[in-house]
Amino acid sequence: MNAKDLIELKKILIAKKNDLLKTVKDKQEKDLHEPNVGDEVDAAGDSEEKELTFGLSDNEKIMLNLIDSALKKIEAGRYGLCENCSAKIPLERLKAMPHARYCINCQPKFDK
Ligand SMILES: [Zn+2]
Repeated sequence: MNAKDLIELKKILIAKKNDLLKTVKDKQEKDLHEPNVGDEVDAAGDSEEKELTFGLSDNEKIMLNLIDSALKKIEAGRYGLCENCSAKIPLERLKAMPHARYCINCQPKFDK
């Protein structure tokens, strides 16, 4: 992978990360601006809402972790290598999925 491609992928990762962080911020701001409807709210609904405003869904948290680890791998010079077999992950795959941790052969083993 050349330096230009690496910079390109890094930009995509950072943009995705910023999107996720913005989602958290938006949710938190929404929470601040919405006054509590009082103590009449039933307990179940209340806790559900807190979970939501706490930030990200599980999927978003996983994605954020994947993005962070991809960015760390870029810094460490190990980006683009399968974490299981160390094979080079094809550039096309990385462009479609810059946070990919595994090559196409290994991915199915970790999808479960
Ligand atoms: Zn692999």
